[in-house]
Amino acid sequence: MNIHEFQAKKLFADYSIPVPEGSVATTPQEAIEISSIHNNNVVVKAQIHAGGRGKAGGVKLFSDSKEIESFSANLLGSNLITAQTGKSGVPVNKLLVEKIYDIHREIYLAIIIDAVTKSIICVASEFGGVNIEEVAESNPDKIFTVVADPILGLQPYKLRLLAKKLNITSDLIRSFSGLATSAYNLFVENDCSMVEINPLVITNDRLLLALDAKVNIDDDALFRHPELVHLRDINQEDERETRADKSNINYVKLDGNVGCLVNGAGLAMATMDVISESGSQPANFLDIGGGADEDKVAEAMKIICSDTDVDKIFVNLFGGILRCDVAARGIVQASKETTIPPIIVRMLGTNADEGAQILLDSSLEVKLIHDLHDARKEFLKS
Ligand code: GDP
Ligand code: MN
Repeated sequence: MNIHEFQAKKLFADYSIPVPEGSVATTPQEAIEISSIHNNNVVVKAQIHAGGRGKAGGVKLFSDSKEIESFSANLLGSNLITAQTGKSGVPVNKLLVEKIYDIHREIYLAIIIDAVTKSIICVASEFGGVNIEEVAESNPDKIFTVVADPILGLQPYKLRLLAKKLNITSDLIRSFSGLATSAYNLFVENDCSMVEINPLVITNDRLLLALDAKVNIDDDALFRHPELVHLRDINQEDERETRADKSNINYVKLDGNVGCLVNGAGLAMATMDVISESGSQPANFLDIGGGADEDKVAEAMKIICSDTDVDKIFVNLFGGILRCDVAARGIVQASKETTIPPIIVRMLGTNADEGAQILLDSSLEVKLIHDLHDARKEFLKS
């Protein structure tokens, strides 16, 4: 679960991570009222669940109340498109209005989970700010990581070494180390999958300040954080993902055109690999999950088909607890309520032949394959 910057900054404050002074506005009038507290020297920031706002015009510095009013009026109620959103962008319903600080340096700092070391790691660079993606591309040696010990956490001596690599001067090493430790504690205690501060700035007054805040909380751990559940903002989430969630279907929207209906997360990932390797792109990840019945399969199919990017579908099922004939009936059921594009079907396991026959007897455009190698041919991009 992603949360907004202003919510993440409240969490930061709870953990004594310094953040700029500011408040949230939902109307231009409120934006002006908050600005006046800071003599109109404010930065106005669109609150959306995506980064890249700076470059997309969603973060702007002001010194005049008239300009704040028109900027806020334009942004509120509109969709902001950034490099990290889809083509249609994400709605802006709130603005964060903050006092401007004079920046001496911008640092990148994040706590994430690293699959390679199977650890929580701290990632940092002295070249933080809006161009961090380019730094990662062109200067990967300028990005440093520290692996956290599962018991000892981010040990202070490692953080001091990190601070040196980031060219942080000795007067700020202690506060840097303390801040990174707080970010780590926040990460662990709230079951986060990411805590990112970009930029973490050193101000001209030699203060460390989290100018931006991005926090992602592991959905599967939310059951033990009832205090965090209300931070969810479904307006920011993909409609189909929310709908799938209601039926306990694991669905993630992706950029391609090949819809995927699969049972099992591993098989779903392998399916996406085959599609990508063939030169096409999956339109979604979908794991129908255990114990699916006809209705659930139909719902999954309808969700896939509601994505206008989808022009063909790969149904890749291994019949076990979910029998292939049940899945096939679910697909046929969906076809009565929605238009289904051509489907390529691979069914193995319990009642595979029966399932295949049900699909062949339907009015659907079906191509049966038996082997994943055959799937490659289907998804070769001409
Ligand atoms: P993002 O582009 O979505 O990551 O949005 P950020 O919150 O990181 O803001 C983008 C950029 O705006 C930052 O990297 C800063 O350079 C600039 N910015 C944001 N707040 C301030 C501020 O208080 N003072 C100054 N001088 N620049 C700011
Ligand atoms: Mn940022």
